[in-house]
Amino acid sequence: MSHQHGPSEPTCRQVLELLSDFVDGELSLDERESLSRHLDACPPCEEFLKTFETARSLCRESLLEKMPSELKDRLRSFLRDQIFKK
Ligand SMILES: [Zn+2]
Repeated sequence: MSHQHGPSEPTCRQVLELLSDFVDGELSLDERESLSRHLDACPPCEEFLKTFETARSLCRESLLEKMPSELKDRLRSFLRDQIFKK
């Protein structure tokens, strides 16, 4: 199964970058909308968002306000491995 990106849609690589900002709550409304459109059409990216959300709520439970940058870096390289090795 494949999906197509329109000219204004973010690519999976751009979505990865957006996701790290999304985790920090730093996305604009436009970015959030294009992100969610992409996630609807791209199950792998949706899975990764869930991974991010899980990690973020673990941080909340540990009373951390923000995801530590080390954890974000590890998540990001995990995402990159998962998407681009295929
Ligand atoms: Zn994608």
